[in-house]
Amino acid sequence: MTRSQAISLWDVTADETDVLAPMDGDVETDLAIVGGGFTGLSTALHATQRGLDCHVLEARRVGYGGSGRNVGLVNAGLWLPPQDVRARLGNARGSALVRALGDAPDYVMSLVERHRIRCEATRSGTIHAAHSSSGYEDLARRAEEWHRLGAPVDLLSRAEASARIGSDAFHGGLLDHRAGTINPMGYARGLARAALDAGARISVGVTARRLRRDNGRWIVETDRGQVSAAAVVLGTNAYTDDLWPGLKRTFTVIRFFQVATAPLGDRADFILRGGEGLWDTGRIMFSLRRDAFGRLVIGSMGSVMGGRDGLSRRWAAHRIRRLFPGLGAIEIETAWHGSIAMTPDHLPRIYRLADGLYTPIGYNGRGITPGTIFGKAMAELLSGGREDDLPLPVSEPRRVASAPVMSRIYRAVFAANQIVGAF
Ligand SMILES: Cc1cc2nc3c(=O)[nH]c(=O)nc-3n(C[C@H](O)[C@H](O)[C@H](O)COP(=O)(O)OP(=O)(O)OC[C@H]3O[C@@H](n4cnc5c(N)ncnc54)[C@H](O)[C@@H]3O)c2cc1C
Repeated sequence: MTRSQAISLWDVTADETDVLAPMDGDVETDLAIVGGGFTGLSTALHATQRGLDCHVLEARRVGYGGSGRNVGLVNAGLWLPPQDVRARLGNARGSALVRALGDAPDYVMSLVERHRIRCEATRSGTIHAAHSSSGYEDLARRAEEWHRLGAPVDLLSRAEASARIGSDAFHGGLLDHRAGTINPMGYARGLARAALDAGARISVGVTARRLRRDNGRWIVETDRGQVSAAAVVLGTNAYTDDLWPGLKRTFTVIRFFQVATAPLGDRADFILRGGEGLWDTGRIMFSLRRDAFGRLVIGSMGSVMGGRDGLSRRWAAHRIRRLFPGLGAIEIETAWHGSIAMTPDHLPRIYRLADGLYTPIGYNGRGITPGTIFGKAMAELLSGGREDDLPLPVSEPRRVASAPVMSRIYRAVFAANQIVGAF
């Protein structure tokens, strides 16, 4: 992958090779999967292992969506605190989801190990850093609940957070020992390789254009032929197009951008010295990590603005200087962004769109573990399981009328934030 074609830093640095197979005429299969990200690939891997014949259709390349562009924080649980998940889903379903996603980093790392996925995986935890004293109170509330549930998390004082992060800009933090970091494109390609090894087929550069029923089967029409399948899973998430009318109006799209420095050598070793990944409690969230080659990768909500020496790069350089005044000169290497599907209540969904047609969607910026777990759950359901055993209650899609307006408002607010932060 040349740098000019790359969709992210991870696209260039991932050690796993890309899948290049095109589609070759009409196909019959048990399960057609649209989208080659964590959700689609995990569905394919697990469904194939359970004896289903599977075919993944990916419009661009494996990991082209959020999966190849994200920060790589393998977090436990959802964006919402566990008590809020229970309040929204009810005690039984909420507790089950919290448990499943609390254990999910273990499961992701077990797949990495079992399939020898080369994705720079670390198991050093993540720090949810308090950007303010009220952010710290929120973390204390989360910590109390996670402790009650027996989860290995530490509430860090200001001094403890500062020692780990290498900056005294934060009011404290919540260190989650279950979590870790990966090169997300490496993980996506590794899942694809594992699915292919298990017997799944993956075709890239194939856009699913239309879905229709024919004699009790699903027909997925593409520009390279059609796929006839007993069931279909859409793993298109924030990159959903018009394939299923109205689906892309069930969430609000926001962008998140990241900027990577050139490798900094050992002078940056004091930053997140344990190898932790970080995000903060700010309403306009900010993220920070190092990669396996000593680059700092810093991000926030919004799109990349400007090219070389443009606004986003200035924002990043300025933010890094403020956080780590002793670091010295840095060179910015690259910047990219991706889309996130936000739901009104910040909970993901599993929609049953029609008989034998499902989509897990709306991960609210937390998709490595949910994508993996929901994909596995789809495989279990479609190989004879029960909807009641899914990690989330199945629901019907509901249009979010304000989504296009909200997207535009967020875009303006995030752009203003970058402009203010760049100077
Ligand atoms: C910048 C950013 C940072 C993030 N950081 C984190 C993080 O640190 N930790 C974390 O857990 N999550 C994070 N997330 C969220 C996470 O990346 C996503 O939730 C996750 O990747 C979603 O995976 P997916 O497989 O469901 O969808 P995606 O990976 O978005 O894949 C959807 C795929 O569907 C394909 N597609 C769409 N329509 C069609 C069609 N008609 N035919 C064929 N193919 C089609 C697209 O090309 C795309 O490849 C982040 C997201 C972004 C954008």
